[in-house]
Amino acid sequence: MKVFTTMQTSPKWHYITKASVERYLALYPYWQKDKYYAICPYCHNPIVITQRGNSRSSHATTLFGKHVSYTPKGFNNVNVDKVKHCFLSGQSSLITSDVLKDNHFNSHELNVKRVRQALSYLTGVRFSNKLTWALIYNGKDAFNYRGIDNYNFPFGLLVVANSIGLTGRLIANPRLEAKIKDNSQFLHLVGHQLKPLSVFPNARMKLILGNDEINQRSGFHFLIAQMVETNHEVQRVVCTYHVVCKMFDELVYK
Ligand SMILES: [Zn+2]
Repeated sequence: MKVFTTMQTSPKWHYITKASVERYLALYPYWQKDKYYAICPYCHNPIVITQRGNSRSSHATTLFGKHVSYTPKGFNNVNVDKVKHCFLSGQSSLITSDVLKDNHFNSHELNVKRVRQALSYLTGVRFSNKLTWALIYNGKDAFNYRGIDNYNFPFGLLVVANSIGLTGRLIANPRLEAKIKDNSQFLHLVGHQLKPLSVFPNARMKLILGNDEINQRSGFHFLIAQMVETNHEVQRVVCTYHVVCKMFDELVYK
């Protein structure tokens, strides 16, 4: 993999370069026994920094990260199941419908509170129980998608959803709130709630959700989300941002 994080810098991550390794991984537990260790920003297991290419010429070498099967001192124990499901280990392919995949979906097994929190975290929009259930119910197919698992299916639900109505919803992310304040012409925030301006009672806003894409430089899966407002036939883009696929714990009761 081409990226890493540390216990101190997560959820932010860095590209694996000589400069970033020397800056963030210079001390124990990251530097031990002549090796640099770090944390995988997707599955949060320990990784070791390795180099590929000609070791005699620093120009020809490329640094990259590899999961380790043992737990280095000072790190949390390796979670083997998460390593197995990690998008950043090896070549990852797009999340697509897979007719051969065994569908283990059972709505009774879902921890809906955790799913709701995960969807809110990913989008920056507060999900109600009703909206969460609507996404689960309409997005059942996502559980059949290749690459979708018990850790990342909220992202899959968003890929399948296409769009979500935002009018009347609470915005949970300060950066999105700032974008709405700066760019929306037809709606405004009352507290955290998105409402039409009184002069535009018919105005609406929705979140358009794109398909799964892979950032070739970092390896992360993401989708492009666009907040779009409409007033009669006028349609305006208020803001565009990336929703990056993440692993969440306890989405399913075991
Ligand atoms: Zn990983």
